[in-house]
Amino acid sequence: SIYGDYIKSVIRTVPDWPQQGVNFRDITPLLQNSSAFRKLIDSFVHRYQEMELDAIAAIDARGFIIGAPVAYELGCSFVPVRKKGKLPFRTISETYTLEYGQAEVELHSDAFRQGDRILIMDDLIATGGTMLAAAKLITRTGGQVVETATIIDLPEIGGSARIREAGFGVFAVCS
Ligand code: IMP
Repeated sequence: SIYGDYIKSVIRTVPDWPQQGVNFRDITPLLQNSSAFRKLIDSFVHRYQEMELDAIAAIDARGFIIGAPVAYELGCSFVPVRKKGKLPFRTISETYTLEYGQAEVELHSDAFRQGDRILIMDDLIATGGTMLAAAKLITRTGGQVVETATIIDLPEIGGSARIREAGFGVFAVCS
C-alpha cells in the first residue's frame, strides 16, 4: 500500500504487554488520527473495489473496526466472526492452538450463500492461526475466500507464509 510506511508510523508498540517479552502492536493512535484512519480504510477500499465481494467476514474485535467501514464503502455484506459464546443463532466453530492453550471462533451457519465471495479482515497476523480458523469456517459454510487482509503482518512469526501455504492470499497494509 502506498500509505504503508505512514500507517506504520502511527501504530504504537507497547513492550511487555500483555506479558513479559511480547511487543504488542497498538492501533489506538492510528484510530485517534482521523486522517490516518481514512487512509487505512481507503487502502482497503482501493484494493477491493473491483473484486466483486459479496461479504466481508471480520474477526472479533479489532477486525470489526476496519471491516465495517470497508463493507459500507464497497456496498457488500458484513459478517462477524466471533469469539466463542457470542453469537445467538445456530453456529459452527473452529478450535485452534495458541502458544498457551486453545481458542475458538464461531460463525452463524446461515452467514453466507454457496459460492459467496468473501474477504476476511483482521487487524494483525502473528501465527496466522486466527485467520486460518476463520478461513476454515467460511469454507465450511460454502463461501469462497477471495483473500485475507490485515493492517499489520509480522512476517518473522511466519503466519502470513502459513496462510499462503494453505492456499489463501494475504494483503497487509504494513509489515
Ligand atoms: P495469530 O492468530 O497468532 O495470527 O494472532 C492474531 C490475532 O491475535 C489477531 O486477532 C490479533 O488481533 C491478535 N493479536 C496478536 N498479537 C497482537 C498485537 O501485537 N497487537 C494486536 N493484536 C494482536
